[in-house]
Amino acid sequence: MKFYSTNGQSPPVPLRQAVVQGLAPDGGLYLPEQIPQLPPAFFRQLGTQSLPDIAYAVARPFLAEEVPPEVLRPLLEEVLDFPIPLVAVEEGIYSLELYRGPTAAFKDVGARFMARLLAYLTRNESRELRIVVATSGDTGSAVAAGFFGVPGIRVYLLYPKGKVSPLQQKQLTTWGGNITALEVEGTFDDCQQLAKLALADRELNQRQLLSSANSINIARLIPQSFYYFWALAQLQQPAGPVVFSVPSGNFGNLTGGLMAAAMGLPVQRFIAATNANDIVPHYLRSGQYQPRPSVATLSNAMDVGNPSNYARLAALYQHQHARFCQQLSGYSFSDAETRQAIRRLWEDRGYLLDPHGAIGYLGLKQYQAEQGPGHCGIFLETAHPAKFREVVEAALDQPLAIPAQLAHYLQKAEQQLPMRNEFDSLKQLLLV
Ligand SMILES: *Cc1c(COP(=O)(O)O)cnc(C)c1O
Repeated sequence: MKFYSTNGQSPPVPLRQAVVQGLAPDGGLYLPEQIPQLPPAFFRQLGTQSLPDIAYAVARPFLAEEVPPEVLRPLLEEVLDFPIPLVAVEEGIYSLELYRGPTAAFKDVGARFMARLLAYLTRNESRELRIVVATSGDTGSAVAAGFFGVPGIRVYLLYPKGKVSPLQQKQLTTWGGNITALEVEGTFDDCQQLAKLALADRELNQRQLLSSANSINIARLIPQSFYYFWALAQLQQPAGPVVFSVPSGNFGNLTGGLMAAAMGLPVQRFIAATNANDIVPHYLRSGQYQPRPSVATLSNAMDVGNPSNYARLAALYQHQHARFCQQLSGYSFSDAETRQAIRRLWEDRGYLLDPHGAIGYLGLKQYQAEQGPGHCGIFLETAHPAKFREVVEAALDQPLAIPAQLAHYLQKAEQQLPMRNEFDSLKQLLLV
């Protein structure tokens, strides 16, 4: 299996190169040349398979040439050693709780997979591998947790100063060791731009072995399709066609779902649910793709004004607006609606949402309001509510307990380096 660049100007490459480079030399994102079809028997047996079994069947066709079964199988068992339950929330609506991993966000799945795969693929490298990753809050800690203490790998996290929650900041900055946290005077888009410049810089790439762990990396995308299959495996008898609502920022999570559908997963529709950064819903309505500077919202991990995976969506839909609209609906919601959804679902059903999951939930509600009942809606609950404690407490008007899994970060000392929003500052640091 080879991976092609969405920009079409650099040649297709094998897995190792796609994963180590992150971004193609022409600035495009890698996608598999063929999307394998899973056999009917796989779908018939879905309900009896474990999550690692499903992941193995899904990942194998992409990785078979470079990762032997005896490596892939235990790797998946390690990555997926936490539960991902599907929880009934109300009539026709389920929450897929993706936040039970070590840093309490769905990004643990992709980051843990990527860390192990990258360590395996570079096992014969003599140079240190330097991973540059921009984060709006959750990616950075998931990547840090995945790579912390891995010999031969150093991670640089770029996060926007003052734009992550206090707990997220602790989760980003208290690692030490092979993890360096850089606090950038700028927005997430600035951080992402700096990371892209580093990966594209000729001199840097001659001197250092650089990689990225953002959702632009194909090694994060592949595992993000596993749990769409797993959600269906847990639905014994879906009460109608399945609709997934995905709270989205850079659209990596949603792209994982589209890949699952292309592999044969029966999904009626995907909902691209966003906050005020509604670039993709706007595109679906108007046919105009207009990136804008991001605005800050309560669901900060989705504050993205130029979603990098749009390039993959466009490639998968052959740049045809009509094809986008056949499979995708888009809705955006305000902070006030987000707060209200958190409060209402808690009061009515005793189910606690985080601000991102709340937007996914609202996406389903809106779809139901337009289409009527008769389908089975699943929203992706992408973070533990306690990760956004301040927002959730304000919405509920009551205090929230912090689980032990997150509380230990609060005890540790922060050790971030301040950085101006200038590529040269980052470059100098990476050259050393
Ligand atoms: C990153 C993140 C998102 C957005 O995911 P994308 O793949 O960037 O669309 C949603 N919710 C949470 C909690 C996140 O951390």
